[in-house]
Amino acid sequence: MKHRLWVALAVFGMTGVSHAAVSPVLVIHGGAGVIRRDMTPAKEKAVRSALTLALQSGYAQLKSGKSSLDAVTAAITVMEDDPNFNAGKGSVFTNDGKNELDAAIMDGITLRAGAVAGVRRIKNPILLARAVMEKSPHVMMSGAGAEAFAQSTGMPLVDPSYFRTEERWQQLQKALKEDAHEKPHQDAETAKHFGTVGAVALDTQGHLAAGTSTGGMTDKRWGRIGDSPIIGAGTYANGDCAVSGTGWGEYYIRTVAAHSICMRVTLMREPLKEAAAEVINQEIPSMGGNGGAIALDADGDIAVPFNTDGMYRGWIGADGVPHVAIYGDEDDGIADPPPASADSSMQP
Ligand code: ASP
Repeated sequence: MKHRLWVALAVFGMTGVSHAAVSPVLVIHGGAGVIRRDMTPAKEKAVRSALTLALQSGYAQLKSGKSSLDAVTAAITVMEDDPNFNAGKGSVFTNDGKNELDAAIMDGITLRAGAVAGVRRIKNPILLARAVMEKSPHVMMSGAGAEAFAQSTGMPLVDPSYFRTEERWQQLQKALKEDAHEKPHQDAETAKHFGTVGAVALDTQGHLAAGTSTGGMTDKRWGRIGDSPIIGAGTYANGDCAVSGTGWGEYYIRTVAAHSICMRVTLMREPLKEAAAEVINQEIPSMGGNGGAIALDADGDIAVPFNTDGMYRGWIGADGVPHVAIYGDEDDGIADPPPASADSSMQP
């Protein structure tokens, strides 16, 4: 059931009109496609603490009255800097052994958006996506042009080797061997889209924002760009709803997944959880895709549907306590275990 998260903070201005502050909420993901057998206790611990840090960092922005955009930016920056995620440092490799990064951010209240695709020397692509939104007349920039724009704003470029981790390199070697034997299978496909990061936030003004950052899919070729930087596919926010997706990007583009979820909420007045579950757990799998998403509405309701073994995810709400989860069957009190083809949802 929907509920308004107004806190009893009434500020009386000169007009005598009261403005209630909304209780802020932040939801994050660190990618769908977790394969339990590939996890070690050490990796699990590192991921959980990175998710916690990202939640704390984003929530600090919200608590101090900053915007949902600031919270999304702060949370994503933490995860981009952490090599456990497929974004920023630790991004996956392309078929020819490079890192090409994509990111997008969108402001729900103004519908302004910024995105970058295929950048190779930007330490925090989410910061460049935000600069595209705030400091240029454009919405999306790619490759060398985006990097030239970054330099024009004073953003330093890093050496491409900054993004390299041995784990991602070995993932590419494995994928190349599978290519050579022409035996892609479901696990391989799942492992190829693992660790993208995203955040959606509701600030004390009641404004929503969404952002996503990724290295894309292991072994991608020919300048492939996924859903994450495409407004409406992997990232979307309006006044009612904010979504960040993670999964097999081609299917998120074809279903215009993030926008579809929000239009179900905005135009069809569907509850967020139903809208998100329909697109992520019905439409996308019916076409052969998989993945997950995080979604948040203006009432502070949260949905985290996914149809993979797990999805790195977390949320923080009114009590300021970070909650994180990894597996689909994880009974941590914050998420309904997602049965196959059904959604999992959390309530702050
Ligand atoms: N959706 C991303 C892409 O296709 C990958 C991911 O979510 O991990 O580029």
